[in-house]
Amino acid sequence: MSVESLEQTDKIGYWLLRKGLIDLNTLERALQIKKNDKLRRNLAQILVQDIKFDHDLIFQEVANIYAFKIYSSEECKLDEKSLDTIRKLVDSLPDSIKEFCLQQKILPLKYDDKIKDKLILASVDPTNRSIPQIAVNLGVRKYDIVFIRKKDFEELVHKIIPPENIFLKMLEEVPQEIQVDEKKHDEGIDESALEAEIQKSALINLVEGALVEGVRKGASDIHFIPQSGMKTEIYFRLDGNLSLWHIQENTYPEAVLSVIKDRARGLDRFEREKAQDGFIQRNIDGHIIRFRVSILPMVGTELSSKFESCVIRILDDRKVITDIKKIGFDGVAYDFFIKAINKPQGMVILTGPTGSGKSTTLIAALYQVIDPTVNVLTVEDPVEYVIKGARQLKIGPKMDFEQAIRSILRHDPDIVLVGEMRDKETAEIAIKLANTGHLTFSTLHTNDAPSAISRLFKMGIEPFLIAYAINIIVAQRLIRKLCEKCKIPAKDFDKEIALAAGMTEKDIKSTTFFEAVGCESCSNTGYKGRMAIHEALYFSKEIRKLIVSSGTEINEEAIREQAKREGMLTLRESGFLRVKAGLTTLEEVISSTTED
Ligand SMILES: [Zn+2]
Repeated sequence: MSVESLEQTDKIGYWLLRKGLIDLNTLERALQIKKNDKLRRNLAQILVQDIKFDHDLIFQEVANIYAFKIYSSEECKLDEKSLDTIRKLVDSLPDSIKEFCLQQKILPLKYDDKIKDKLILASVDPTNRSIPQIAVNLGVRKYDIVFIRKKDFEELVHKIIPPENIFLKMLEEVPQEIQVDEKKHDEGIDESALEAEIQKSALINLVEGALVEGVRKGASDIHFIPQSGMKTEIYFRLDGNLSLWHIQENTYPEAVLSVIKDRARGLDRFEREKAQDGFIQRNIDGHIIRFRVSILPMVGTELSSKFESCVIRILDDRKVITDIKKIGFDGVAYDFFIKAINKPQGMVILTGPTGSGKSTTLIAALYQVIDPTVNVLTVEDPVEYVIKGARQLKIGPKMDFEQAIRSILRHDPDIVLVGEMRDKETAEIAIKLANTGHLTFSTLHTNDAPSAISRLFKMGIEPFLIAYAINIIVAQRLIRKLCEKCKIPAKDFDKEIALAAGMTEKDIKSTTFFEAVGCESCSNTGYKGRMAIHEALYFSKEIRKLIVSSGTEINEEAIREQAKREGMLTLRESGFLRVKAGLTTLEEVISSTTED
């Protein structure tokens, strides 16, 4: 086969080969399949369906070859009005056609802006032979085809036709009340009665339904809280706040917990007095989602009950941010941070309370420095997210956190992530790593950056070791973003509050302050989503000098003042920038940067 004649006989094959996306062997194999293919598929379809090439990679080229317009991921982020247009177009189709479109991954987008009766159809495969047939069924004679990436298509469909939660649907179909013999319960927990309850598929559907709903709503955790009177409350943590999702009534909380325990790995259903940790994995909407289950015994008011509280952490790798630019560092803080993580050695410390997004930022930072030429080791307990390109040590009954920490040095690392410096020993090893040619990432629990220095000092680390091991300490908080749909300029804005919080007259004058209102889109909270604010304390020569010269105490104030002279914004000042940008309220910044 000559490559020149290929251009005439198989244009797709010719271009994919020229572009280096397939090799000659693959091409020959695909051409062979094509020759005898009863379905008369083209080469691209064969490469994806039979030889398992990445769909978007191949069809993006096909779109290029045949000059189909490519509907970019950016363009797919449609506003409510455009989504509504698609919804109406789709809803106007008979069910069978609608189903066929979705199955073929074809969506009517809108009518052309210029040519009135010309419909724009988006397809993940612009060469799909069903397109003309679908156009006929849609009743249009003129149409244009645009290429849409498969993942964009799925996201779009998800927005237009929210998927049904089959577990919740099944739940609607069974009677809510679950009968248990009251008498038996009075005599204590009767395992066989519980067994009978577990068999009720309703509870299984409830638990599975909660997992699916939690993931789809973007919750970070699902809480199951037992209450007296045969009730279990189920909450989702959304944007940092718990919100009630469901109350399961007329069911013993023990039965709900038993179902969770049965469906998780590593949990003992008959154990009700001990803290337990388990694990669940599910495929939800085509993604593998991991769940970490934590169970703790609780005091109940009813003596016959053995209550346990359960929290399920949702570990959705899609939430991992791999681009440090998306963390939201402001100008100077971003420059400091990039400088610090690009040094060959030294510590990068993230500090803040639980839930301030420290590990999200650290993982994004790791992704900037991971490459196949370096050995990246992580010691985290527990491991929250899979980090591609890193070796993540497995902490378990046979190797605890301390043992793992002590072993890393012997495992020839270049870059190390130590989940948390929880005591002197961990801190000493982390600092030793940093001082012996390793880039070391870790976290601490302190309110701000200067106090992290004090914490290490109080743990018993020598000031000169602290001064020269650390590249940067970043304090982080997550603050709520105003809902763009309902925010309004603040009506009775109190200047005194802004002044007392530390804003200058000049800043106040040049700022339009907004207030949270609440609408359907933000569940009436006035806020939607969160963003990070930072206090980035870069270890300059001057800062190091100040630390080394510490006597019996670290002078946090002197360090803070020096850092501010060098460009550091405090957490609150970083928050003010977001107020000035109209992204959040003054109250939100004050409340999330006030320490008690
Ligand atoms: Zn709103």
